[in-house]
Amino acid sequence: MAHNFRIRLDRARCIGAENCSHFAPATFGNEDGQVVLLPEPHDSEAQIRAAAGACPMQVIHLDPINPSKDSSNEG
Ligand code: SF4
Repeated sequence: MAHNFRIRLDRARCIGAENCSHFAPATFGNEDGQVVLLPEPHDSEAQIRAAAGACPMQVIHLDPINPSKDSSNEG
């Protein structure tokens, strides 16, 4: 499932709480007690945003993918 954001994980801060895989089980897994990004297709955007919001350590970052190269000109 294509989304307009890129998932970035700050794994060093992950405490393995697994809230993320509860909300978005097709996106986040657990390996050696830390979150891993699973291969696509991922969950819906709503599920992934819920997972990011539920992470107690704010490990999951959703970086917007800007189709325009010039992002400095907001209108
Ligand atoms: S919810 Fe956050 S701290 Fe817990 S496993 Fe997922 S990324 Fe790690």
